[in-house]
Amino acid sequence: MSNLQSGTISCKCGRCEITVADKRAVQYFRCGCEDCRQGLEWARIKGGDKLEQLPHLYYIPADITSVKGKDFMEVYKLRCEGRSTRLYCGSCYSLMGVEHPNYQGNVFLIFPRHCKTDCDLSVKLTAIICMIDYPEDYDAPPEDEVPLFYSRKFKQEQKRWSQIPLVAANFKQRTKPRKGISFTELIEAVGPPKILNLEKGERLI
Ligand SMILES: [Zn+2]
Ligand SMILES: [Zn+2]
Repeated sequence: MSNLQSGTISCKCGRCEITVADKRAVQYFRCGCEDCRQGLEWARIKGGDKLEQLPHLYYIPADITSVKGKDFMEVYKLRCEGRSTRLYCGSCYSLMGVEHPNYQGNVFLIFPRHCKTDCDLSVKLTAIICMIDYPEDYDAPPEDEVPLFYSRKFKQEQKRWSQIPLVAANFKQRTKPRKGISFTELIEAVGPPKILNLEKGERLI
């Protein structure tokens, strides 16, 4: 009935691979938040990829039709009160994906420069976000013709945020049937997250 094309997200050592039913990323942000930064810094120390200063984030529909190398996968939270859960290859420390309760099981997040993927990343940049955390000694953010959010603390920002059409569509609970399992279910199958207890704001590298 559909002509969806599947895609894969794999780690750089090749032990772990996730196949999704729909390879088209639905949204793209660049994020200056400390969680993105620390999650990548921590992985870098463990042997993962070189850091990128303003990570490229893509949201993929959470229809996971097969998983390879589950025994090598590891799940972590940066802090016990943290809401995001990160799935890494425990061998090469590629970041395979991130789950957050706000995604409501609809999508999950990937960092294409910290894994390998053949997903379709042609969706346009939506916004540059969370610049409140962006280190002062990093390069200035690119002057793309997209909104830049310093935080989402202020009413004006919240209003601008909620007016981005894709955000509203992608972060609501899904109504269409799921193919395979969600990213949340994959994370649960890998096991309870280990808590890294990183200090907020700390630079690990
Ligand atoms: Zn690996
Ligand atoms: Zn972030």
